[in-house]
Amino acid sequence: MAKIDEIKVGAKVEPLRKPRPCAECGQPSVREHYPFCSDRCRSLDLSRWLNGSYAIPVTEDETKADGSDQG
Ligand SMILES: [Zn+2]
Repeated sequence: MAKIDEIKVGAKVEPLRKPRPCAECGQPSVREHYPFCSDRCRSLDLSRWLNGSYAIPVTEDETKADGSDQG
């Protein structure tokens, strides 16, 4: 028989309005450069955009197979 134990992990209840981690380095972001921690990280992210790293996947419409046999 398997005994189910409720394992309660010490989850701390954090406030909802917690600073988001910098999208670049992970450090707590600041209001001025939200959502980044500094202007440096913000520019880094921007450069990535310009470089095209953030390529948006284009959803190609698959040609519907009508099942028309030719030949
Ligand atoms: Zn940062």
